[in-house]
Amino acid sequence: MITEFNVIEKFFKKNTDVPLGIGDDAALIEKDKDHFWAIAQDTLNVNTHFLKNTNPINLGWKSLAVNVSDMFAMGAKPKYAFLSIALDKVENDWLKQFSRGLFRCAKEYGVQLIGGDTTRGKLSISIVLMGEVHKKFVLKRSHAKINDDIWVTNTLGLAAFGLKNLKTQINCPEGLKSKSIKALEKPKPTNITKNNFSRLFHAGIDISDGFIADLGHVLEQSKVGAIIQLDNLPINPWIKKNKYLDCALNGGDDYELILTADKKQRNQILAQSKKLNIQIYNVGEITKNQDLRIHNNKGYPIKLKTRFFRHFK
Ligand code: ADP
Ligand code: MG
Repeated sequence: MITEFNVIEKFFKKNTDVPLGIGDDAALIEKDKDHFWAIAQDTLNVNTHFLKNTNPINLGWKSLAVNVSDMFAMGAKPKYAFLSIALDKVENDWLKQFSRGLFRCAKEYGVQLIGGDTTRGKLSISIVLMGEVHKKFVLKRSHAKINDDIWVTNTLGLAAFGLKNLKTQINCPEGLKSKSIKALEKPKPTNITKNNFSRLFHAGIDISDGFIADLGHVLEQSKVGAIIQLDNLPINPWIKKNKYLDCALNGGDDYELILTADKKQRNQILAQSKKLNIQIYNVGEITKNQDLRIHNNKGYPIKLKTRFFRHFK
């Protein structure tokens, strides 16, 4: 099976002279003596990444939020954005609402829009985002260390469950239904750069492809493995009880963070996160043995069904 990663590897990945190029949530280039610019680009295409009738305010928000998420995954503070938008026709109302959502997100995360490109074509939104990060505290995918704790923010699987809800009728609590659709349409990246909280961690990645797939990237690039305690993963109890566990393990679009940190930081992370009102959970540990295991409450590994896991192996 050919994935986007094969394509990038085969056709686009060449040697460069930057501190960090293709392969992480953002590239790094020199900013000043102590800082890098982290730069990332993410695209949302109609019918691939969102349904045509998606609320434009939410779509504007999400277009930027998915890039903000890549900045936080690097420990970087988002700053400047370029917006490239293809439109099949100019609809004033739609654009008014889209831009309102975009700028609400920009305000929330301290981003300024400073350029872009507007063209005719099938609806597609692509944003380049630049952020600043201290050189000593970059959270690379390759920085996980053996025995590190593994941390996850907020909740896993809501976005994928929201998509299921949009596609089929699921008999779940009404509150969970609206919450999960909101998670899909208006993701809220967790700002771990507040009060230098991100400096407590070694490695970071945001969850766009699914928890296992994205944790797999960290393990692969850090040349380590992991043991995850299923019961410690933040999953909505109804989703877990009703056999939608796959949404949490393999569902995409969560834009939560997976982080690793030295065990010595555990108390500091818990105390700081409480102060900053950040929901973060200790879900497992990095191992020397280079495979990924998820243990149930009896301590047995559960069977993982994912192509990314095989790819990682
Ligand atoms: P993310 O999910 O964090 O946005 P991706 O999985 O989209 O990251 O991309 C993986 C890496 O490949 C990133 O470093 C990204 O910049 C790079 N990449 C993706 N597509 C291309 C491309 N067409 N040309 C060059 N680099 C690319
Ligand atoms: Mg990412």
